[in-house]
Amino acid sequence: MLEDLDSLLPRRGAKHCKVGRILESLEPSDADILRAALADPAKWTVNALHVALRQKGIELGYQVLYRHRKLSCNCVSDDA
Ligand SMILES: [Zn+2]
Repeated sequence: MLEDLDSLLPRRGAKHCKVGRILESLEPSDADILRAALADPAKWTVNALHVALRQKGIELGYQVLYRHRKLSCNCVSDDA
């Protein structure tokens, strides 16, 4: 029944969640700003961040932002 289990392994390229991939694609200065916002929930709620990023042309859903902030995503912790 499980002889093809290996074929269901997550692909190695899927290390980062969408937030992590966006962070990697941004200019370093922009990535720092977004990391700072993600690290400051008192200033930026997930909802506020979602709306602000959309105005900047970056589509990130609530769930992915929330999970990345809580580090319950695929990103390594030192990349948050
Ligand atoms: Zn992540």
